[in-house]
Amino acid sequence: MSQRTKIKALLESEQTNIEVTVKGWVRTFRNNQFIALNDGSTNSNIQIVVDFENTDPNLLKRITTGAALSVVGELVASLGKGQKVEVKAKQIEVLGDSDPEKYPLQPKKHSLEFLREIAHLRFRTNTFGAVFRVRNSLSYAVHTFFHERGFVYLHTPIITASDAEGAGETFHVTNFDLAYPPRTENGDVDFKQDFFGRATNLTVSGQLEGELGAMALSDIYTFGPTFRAENSNTTRHLAEFWMIEPEMAFYDLEDNMNLAEEFLKYLIGYVLKNNAEDIEFLSQRLAEEEKQKPQNERSETTLIEKLQFCLDNDFQRLTYTEAIDILKESTPNKKKKFTYLVEGWGTDLQSEHERYLVEKHFKKPVILTDYPKEIKAFYMRQNDDGKTVRAMDILFPGIGEIVGGSQREERLEKLEQRMTEMGIPTEELWWYLDTRRFGSCPHAGFGLGFERMVQFVTGMGNIRDVIPFPRFPKNAEF
Ligand code: ATP
Ligand code: MN
Repeated sequence: MSQRTKIKALLESEQTNIEVTVKGWVRTFRNNQFIALNDGSTNSNIQIVVDFENTDPNLLKRITTGAALSVVGELVASLGKGQKVEVKAKQIEVLGDSDPEKYPLQPKKHSLEFLREIAHLRFRTNTFGAVFRVRNSLSYAVHTFFHERGFVYLHTPIITASDAEGAGETFHVTNFDLAYPPRTENGDVDFKQDFFGRATNLTVSGQLEGELGAMALSDIYTFGPTFRAENSNTTRHLAEFWMIEPEMAFYDLEDNMNLAEEFLKYLIGYVLKNNAEDIEFLSQRLAEEEKQKPQNERSETTLIEKLQFCLDNDFQRLTYTEAIDILKESTPNKKKKFTYLVEGWGTDLQSEHERYLVEKHFKKPVILTDYPKEIKAFYMRQNDDGKTVRAMDILFPGIGEIVGGSQREERLEKLEQRMTEMGIPTEELWWYLDTRRFGSCPHAGFGLGFERMVQFVTGMGNIRDVIPFPRFPKNAEF
């Protein structure tokens, strides 16, 4: 078994006229003679040439789309166009048959919606092969980036008792028989008797625990699953997604923005360099998709140009207040084209507003800072104006918010006062407040939604197509 060579290596091989063993799944079989075989190591197939006159017809019949094969043959320079090398088969073994009448993946174009319904097989398509190789590469790049900078990878808990952050609706975690949970005397569910002796939920963010780590290790990051029971059927929200949350001691908002921008550019640069073939394929796929749209909605730039543009340009930095002024004066606002009109200072920005700023006004990634404190979390550092906090959101073309972060409130009194104002129980977060009691210091951090980054880099329009098995309202298949 170990003698097999992966197709990527074969296609890059300098040597020919050697005997090789290749294993993979049949994509197509033409003229009883040419098998396109793929093993997922690369987007490209290797061509297997079959000597059909000297091959058992019963074996030929079993070479169908989707079948798993093991082929021994000679790697030779290809006579045909389109490939440098091919394998002249000497021996073909069908490891697993695939009934062409029943196999759902025909060698033709399938819609992304249909492929989502057969997510267990969609890895076998060019598009999803490319997406998941890029996703893999990006996650490696995340670790490399932080590792090179001396950050400590900290695993924060997935089950927690705090939803104090208010980042989103949580999923409850319980061991109770839901039909008959134990009750207290007043009839409430008695969580004291539950597994953890209290009500618990799946984490919506590892930030608060991440801060505890940073208050000793200086620079940490988390990279793990995050859960939000958001009943929003958008192309940018999942119920289960992966988030990267760095937290840095002795950083202010400026340092935080610099790190985030450097990080995003590093990730983009990494895949452009290391996943060139897949990105090229995805870029063409997107261009094809764009052609289906009416002329005025088409993007003028290719995926690769977009990625390169982000690398080459500074992100536009401005305050929330400046952004509101731009939006108020904007044509879609004046002509009442926005679904939510921007009337005054203080309202949260909708994704249509974020996209206007990024795609129409600045035409590049934007970092918005200093949001009104009312629309941001309790832990963000309060500015002297008494109205705004040191928050930053990074907005990307086609995506909207990709990063949310802030400098944290390190002053105990200010923090407690804000928690009280917002009705957040200080007793429950005693451990969080301890960091402000003992050796508090300025610090900052941010959260990057990993799938939104994969979406941006692959050009996939729907977040459900960049995670192997998406979790969203009314769906937990596979
Ligand atoms: P949004 O306004 O888009 O819902 P948010 O303000 O809830 O985002 P944060 O709580 O700041 O987002 O989370 C940090 C990052 O996590 C976001 O910038 C985004 O990239 C990502 N993110 C948030 N919610 C989801 C989700 N449901 N699915 C996928 N990624 C998400
Ligand atoms: Mn949200």
